[in-house]
Amino acid sequence: MLRQRTIRKPVHAIGIGVHTGDKVRMTLRPAAENTGISFVRTDVRASAPIRATAENVSDTTLSTSLGTGDVQVATVEHLMSALWGLGIDNLVVELSSEEVPIMDGSAAPFIYLISTVGIVEQQAPKQFIRIKRDIKVTQGDAEAVLKPYDGFKAAYTFVADHPVYNRHPKVSELDFSNISYVDQVSRARSFGLIKELPQAQAINKMLGSSLENAVGIDDFDVMNEGGLRYEDEFVKHKLLDVIGDLYLLGRPILGAFEGFKSGHALNNKLARALLRCEDAWEMTTYETPAVAEFGEPIMQPAAI
Ligand SMILES: [Zn+2]
Repeated sequence: MLRQRTIRKPVHAIGIGVHTGDKVRMTLRPAAENTGISFVRTDVRASAPIRATAENVSDTTLSTSLGTGDVQVATVEHLMSALWGLGIDNLVVELSSEEVPIMDGSAAPFIYLISTVGIVEQQAPKQFIRIKRDIKVTQGDAEAVLKPYDGFKAAYTFVADHPVYNRHPKVSELDFSNISYVDQVSRARSFGLIKELPQAQAINKMLGSSLENAVGIDDFDVMNEGGLRYEDEFVKHKLLDVIGDLYLLGRPILGAFEGFKSGHALNNKLARALLRCEDAWEMTTYETPAVAEFGEPIMQPAAI
């Protein structure tokens, strides 16, 4: 039987919020089975934990934020994506400020951080959300769909007409029974056109953005020394975001995702639509090892 997972012991990281530019200390702590992922603001007195659920999404402007009452945590998507990739079900994430540290703009530093303490299996069976019929949401010409599928695969079409984007693949379809999230997806960084940065900063977003935590693109080329990490890094990052946003359903999906220009807002609309349509999904566990390929193998602490 596939069982739930948490981390072996607490682990810390320090970084900055990409939107606030503020320094933040993050502590990941093991959590009991069936408690899910939750965030705690240590800088807010008597802050109740904020559960990482699609219903708690409070803002989707350039990143996904969770909030209950006045307390918010921003930019949760890359960490959530890494937790999906490692098959982590239960975790407490403490933050000393309002935003998850951006690290290098991908999910890879979170994977590395967790690898330093390792992952443990718990007793309770791991639960999945099995998609039973198609669910589709739209926003303008953007679309996001979930379909039944015995496994998990995700396809994404990225639409943007720019000389740099036009030189790289804009479509990707990944079946996670064949490929490794850690190797093929987790290293894809956030990206953006440098000329759009002032617009974002005018609304107090991206104040901590730099070439150390994003791929910057000028009129002609990628500005980062060393170029891209994957030939299709842009579309892969879109898939990384989708995976993080959908993991706010609280359990991994057994199904197929197809996205056309979908961003954080539409990803969340899809998750909420699914939860409303109770005939479109069921909770399931796995008794057999047939799906052992889901999630990476149990990670032992790295030798560092
Ligand atoms: Zn992202």
